[in-house]
Amino acid sequence: MKEGDEVILPAYTYCATANVVIHCGATPVFVDVNPHDFNISISNIEKAITSKTKVIMPVDFAGHCCDYDQLNALVIKHKAQFIPQTNEQKILDRVLILSDSAHSFGAWYKGKRAGSLTDVSVFSFHAVKNLTTAEGGAIALNLPAPFDNEAVYKTLCVKTLHGQDKDALAKTIKGNWRYDVVEAGYKCNMTDIMAAIGIVELERYDNDTLKVRQHIFEQYDTAFSKLEWAQLPEYKTDNKTSCYHLYPLRIKGISEAQRDAIIKEIFDYDVSVNVHFIPVPMMSFYKKLGYDIKNYPVTYDNYSREISLPVFYDLNDDLVKTVINAVTASVKKVLG
Ligand SMILES: *Cc1c(COP(=O)(O)O)cnc(C)c1O
Repeated sequence: MKEGDEVILPAYTYCATANVVIHCGATPVFVDVNPHDFNISISNIEKAITSKTKVIMPVDFAGHCCDYDQLNALVIKHKAQFIPQTNEQKILDRVLILSDSAHSFGAWYKGKRAGSLTDVSVFSFHAVKNLTTAEGGAIALNLPAPFDNEAVYKTLCVKTLHGQDKDALAKTIKGNWRYDVVEAGYKCNMTDIMAAIGIVELERYDNDTLKVRQHIFEQYDTAFSKLEWAQLPEYKTDNKTSCYHLYPLRIKGISEAQRDAIIKEIFDYDVSVNVHFIPVPMMSFYKKLGYDIKNYPVTYDNYSREISLPVFYDLNDDLVKTVINAVTASVKKVLG
């Protein structure tokens, strides 16, 4: 990637998705999202593809997968427009799909799991995510032939460990002390202690963590589906099941100021809620670069009416009731 290259991503995401594009010297091209599921709109991606597009970064918002069949077909359809520059781009010979799967570890799409749905998927194991190693993440490689995913994995391991061709453990093996540095690498490998946390979390993920989170979602659905002002999030369809990462409730017909007032009331009940996300074009750094939220009306509408309700393992049924009561009373107080 280099200056002038374009990367297409949703306006409605966390800054990390866009920041990495800046780090590469490329240009983030934000596009608007869907009104129904918060995910990047595939028809808007199609309008944004140019001969400079090198990567598309879909985000599986709230743990609900994007439509990967459509995304994968789109980059094939636009193959003729692609102008490769690097060696890897020449081999791929089309736009790369690099999924920001920070929310979707364990989610399903057409019988397949997040991480296996497109070229590359990146998971976050940060403390606020479904599966955590305190800090860290994972990259799932699924590049088409003739790429050798095992070889790409080895290259990434070298890059994340100072460009050394051997890790510390390999060097302790008899007669194996000598090593080489093949590039000026970085230090961003996962530590063994973090990985140990991940192994334990992974074991209980499907049958414990996800079940508990699903149960919380279902209680919210039951309560809020009875209330006229509530717009429930989509997290299960015929071919998708989310991993219940966020419960992004929307309130019908309210302004951003009313949403903020509702949140203030909810906090007065000692219930902590959040907003996912303040869209990236609304952040000062990106505003200074010339991005304007006015160009992403669905993103703004979703954001201005959104409140993420608490979803965490120790949220028992009584606490869920407390949340439901606090939200209901606060909406009533603000909207009358
Ligand atoms: C959390 C998050 C990230 C970043 O994850 P880190 O592990 O903190 O780097 C990226 N994208 C989205 C959408 C996120 O929510």
